[in-house]
This record gives sequence, C-alpha cells and structure tokens, in this order.
Amino acid sequence: FQINMTQLQLDEELGKGNYGTVKKVLHRPTNVFMAMKEIQLELSPSKLDGIIMELDILHRAVAPEIVEFYGAFTIESCVYYCMEYMDAGSLDKVLGIKTIAQGGGWSGELGEGAPEEVLGRIAASMVRGLKFLKDNLQIMHRDVKPTNVLMSRKGSVKLCDFGVSGQLDNSIAKTNIGCQTYFAPERIQGTTGADAQEAFNTYTVSSDVWSLGLSIIEVALGRYPYPPETYNNVFAQLQAIVHGEPPQLPEEKKPTETDPVEVHFSAEARDWVRCCLIKDPAHRATYAQLLEHPFLLADRQREVDMVTWVAGALGRREAQAQLRRQLLLEVETETV
Ligand code: ATP
Ligand code: MG
Repeated sequence: FQINMTQLQLDEELGKGNYGTVKKVLHRPTNVFMAMKEIQLELSPSKLDGIIMELDILHRAVAPEIVEFYGAFTIESCVYYCMEYMDAGSLDKVLGIKTIAQGGGWSGELGEGAPEEVLGRIAASMVRGLKFLKDNLQIMHRDVKPTNVLMSRKGSVKLCDFGVSGQLDNSIAKTNIGCQTYFAPERIQGTTGADAQEAFNTYTVSSDVWSLGLSIIEVALGRYPYPPETYNNVFAQLQAIVHGEPPQLPEEKKPTETDPVEVHFSAEARDWVRCCLIKDPAHRATYAQLLEHPFLLADRQREVDMVTWVAGALGRREAQAQLRRQLLLEVETETV
C-alpha cells in the first residue's frame, strides 16, 4: 500500500537533525505509530521522483537489526519518509548524551555509559545490521553514529538512516553544515585537495567499521570519545582523527557527575574496539571477524536483560528532565 499525508495524524516531535525533523505520527488506516522524517530539498519534481524510486529498495531491508521502512512520498520540495517508530529513541537520548550543533561547532553534554554486557548486545546488533546491509543489499551505511541507532523498550537495537539513495545523499551533502565527526581518517583526508581521488577509491565499507568503534566507545563512556576541547573546533577535531592516536576503550570508566557508577571493561571488549579503530582501513576488522571475536562470542553465550536496562536509563532521563523543569521554575519565580 502507499502512504500519504492525509492518512497521518501528527503526534509529538521526536528530534531534529541537520537536514530535517522527525515526528511521531499515527497511521490511521492501520493504527500503527510511525516516525516520519521530513527532508527539505530544493529539487525539481523529476529529481524528487528519482529519490522516491531509489528509496523503494528499502522495502527489501527487512532484518531484526534494521528499522522497518513503510514508505515515502513528496509534497512540494519535501521528501517524507515513514519508518518504524522506536519507542526508546536513539542511543544518545537513552544515555542522555546531548550533541548540539552550534554555529558549525559542537557542545557535548555528558551522559551515562552502558555496562559491558549491554555494550556487547548493542555492538552485536550493530554489526549484524551492517553486515546485513552489505551482504543482502550491497550497500554501506555511511552514517553510523549513536543518533542513528534506535532502541525500543523491548530492548531491540536497530539501525536507521543508511545511504540507500545516492541522489538523496548527493542533495543532502550540499546543504550539510558538516559534523563529520564519526568519519574515518581516510574519509576526512580525501574530502579536499589532491587526496580526494584516492580517498574516493579507498573509502569503503571499512569506514563504517571505524564509525562503529567510535560509537561503541561513546556508548561505553556516555560521551564523544575525542577530547572536549575539540567539540567546538571542527578543525582540531578532524586533525585529531587524521593525525592523532585512535581513541581506546579504557579499562574502567571512573564515576562522573552525570554517572556515579564505575564500570570496568574487559580486555576482550577493549581489543574489539581496537580492531575497529585501526587507522589504516586495510587492517581494520571485517564484520565476520568482529562477530567471531571473543567479545561478541561472550555476548552470544549470555542472557542480557536489555528491557530492565532501557527502563532504568529512561527513568533516569525522566528524573533529570523533571529536575531541570523544577530548577527552571525556581529561577522564574525568583526573578518575578
Ligand atoms: P543527522 O541529521 O546528522 O543525521 P540525527 O540522526 O540526530 O542527525 P535525524 O535523523 O533527523 O537527525 O533524527 C532526529 C532525531 O529523531 C534522532 O536523533 C532520534 O532521536 C529521533 N528519531 C529518528 N528516527 C526515529 C525513529 N524511527 N523512532 C524514534 N525516534 C527517532
Ligand atoms: Mg538520523
């Protein structure tokens, strides 16, 4: 069946990205909640139709680790894209990590980290999802980062926003204000100048493996892995990625203001992350190797209560939000 706007009843806004807004909607004919992404593009109707056609292959992207696609349509110069609504939101939201684009820069807010067992389950799901895209649809994701990993309260972990439409990617790239911060070194190095052609050749599926490793450290620590000094200095950040040592998963995460729990990470987990964050893409691990690594073998052999963990994390987010509202109210009444 075809989805169109008249069937949709708007609910709350779920978030805003660089290119559009995501809203929760109710699809009346089926009574299914969906997430609708609106992407504004200045394109001719025929180009928009081309994008809708390319998006059609998403109907084949059916896997437990991939967010389900329901359909897309255009209105004027906007593409609307309807997908499965994930009721716990993206990983950054679950963990309380705020990444706010500010005038081309960033300000990273500390969140909480995930314990190793949860980390293993998230890593395993992400690898299986990425491997599915590669093996079954012959595509790479191109935008692996915590905001593109969604969770449900039932504990499932799924990927969204992968680069299925070359035409959509191209049109978006032009308006992108940049936050290339999960990009692998070879992707950054090649974006300008003489390296461009070379990077075009070497930029492959292993670039997603880098982004995966970086995302996993972020989930473990509750913050973006590169030093806070680079959050508002894109140049320094890119410099650190290309010329610095790759980030590592530490042995332990010390308690922080936002996360009083001390967490230990095993040698296996640390080695797994290291295999993702090898600067030379030719030496980086493959999905098959990552799945057979002791870190993910251990994940397959144990039960992980993701439901309780998600509920706990979302409860802490709600408590924080309430505290913030209360503080705001106090400030307001003081100034009156
Ligand atoms: P970028 O624009 O760089 O891709 P982003 O991924 O944060 O950043 P969007 O893809 O527009 O931007 O998504 C905005 C927010 O909406 C996400 O961070 C996520 O929290 C929320 N979101 C997106 N898709 C869904 C979904 N299917 N279910 C629930 N929440 C979603
Ligand atoms: Mg996204």
